Amino acid sequence: MLRFFAVPQAYYAYLFAAFSFVLGASIGSFLNVCIYRLPRDLSVNKPRRSFCPSCKYQIPFWHNIPLVSWLALRGKCANCGAPISFRYFGVELLTGLLFLAVWLSVWPHAWVLALPYWILVSLLIVATFIDFEFFIIPDEITWGGVAAGVVLSLAIPLLMGANANLVAAGWSLFGAACGYFLLWGVVELGKKAFGKKRVTFDKIEKFTWTRHDDDADLVVGNEKSLWSDYFARESDRLLMRCERAKIEGEQFENVTLEFHFDRVQIGERTWELIKLESITGTMTEVVIPREAMGFGDVKFIAAIGAFLGWKAVLFTVMAGSAAGAVVGLTAIALGRREWSAKIPFGPYLALGGLLWMFTGPELVDWYLALTQPAV
Ligand SMILES: [Zn+2]
Repeated sequence: MLRFFAVPQAYYAYLFAAFSFVLGASIGSFLNVCIYRLPRDLSVNKPRRSFCPSCKYQIPFWHNIPLVSWLALRGKCANCGAPISFRYFGVELLTGLLFLAVWLSVWPHAWVLALPYWILVSLLIVATFIDFEFFIIPDEITWGGVAAGVVLSLAIPLLMGANANLVAAGWSLFGAACGYFLLWGVVELGKKAFGKKRVTFDKIEKFTWTRHDDDADLVVGNEKSLWSDYFARESDRLLMRCERAKIEGEQFENVTLEFHFDRVQIGERTWELIKLESITGTMTEVVIPREAMGFGDVKFIAAIGAFLGWKAVLFTVMAGSAAGAVVGLTAIALGRREWSAKIPFGPYLALGGLLWMFTGPELVDWYLALTQPAV
């Protein structure tokens, strides 16, 4: 289908390529605004000017040149000198490079695909950085992405590999639906498999939590379990309704212990688990308000499906899961299990989507050739 990094044929191809990098870096500057403002429920176009998150100084346009400004100001606000995160530079560079890669992969045979692919790349970048920081993917990106994918397929049927506009829009909707129901099914299955959401005990049960190195054993009644198995991602929590609890020699009565993967809280008080040896007490109920995957991921894969079709959905979910497993196993091998707990699933889906966009069909052919016996 698409050739990756096809060599430009004519000299103006270099001009187009340079233009696509500069365009990408400028769009990246806007994506930084979205990454900052969308999860904070701020408008992305009011105020129109970017402002320093530290002193709220409105950044004049001559200090807002993509890539150049961050370097020239050495990553500091021109007004107050507060450090400006490397992320601003990184997102601009990444967007520029991906816009260039998209252009080189669609030129010259399928250049009309540059626009939809650029838009998808932008959505993937914004979703990735917001998900990393906030463990959510805003609806503007997910449902907005589904709508954009369907409209773009209607306008550019080649996006779905179709000839007729309405047929392409149909395939786009089908891709979105495939993604939505596939991951929705995974989420529901996950709840059935792991989702002991609430366990109420007939009688008051004794429990002990005992730390060993960077993990712990939890014994409730006669049942022993490994602490880290309850926490798949950083946002997971576990609530214990306790009749009595003892932390560092201090006694509490009728309290709810709120556990996070690295700490336990009672109301406003917080203890770091790594500094505790044990917690003991009696409890009546455990609540695990966790989902194996966020609903944001379900809507996000629908958006990817609307842009790239149903085959891409299957590929993206498999490639994303494989990447997640590799990172998870590497983290465990290095004794840093908490690393993988800090990475949400959205960025893996974005990575899978990018892989498909650039090399998906070739990868599938390669895999099929591997599994087929040579004749
Ligand atoms: Zn400032």
